[in-house]
Amino acid sequence: MKTDTCRICGSNKIMDNVRVVDRGHGDAKKDLSVYIQKTDKRFFNKFEKGELKAQICGSCGNVDLSVKNPHELWDAYLKTKSL
Ligand SMILES: [Zn+2]
Repeated sequence: MKTDTCRICGSNKIMDNVRVVDRGHGDAKKDLSVYIQKTDKRFFNKFEKGELKAQICGSCGNVDLSVKNPHELWDAYLKTKSL
């Protein structure tokens, strides 16, 4: 959820849309993301992917994570439940 103030301390020092990365082989940066499986095959299943973005408070350090495509993920989630 996007806000202009920190929900913990009320500060307005909010850093929005910050990439959340993991360091892979050779120090390569990879965006952390969530995956929801959309099909139930043995091989080559389809996934809906959502890259995590962080909103960080520059006063207390609270971090909130969100994804850009919640609707696509929700649709994929519903499909998974009906498999
Ligand atoms: Zn804060």
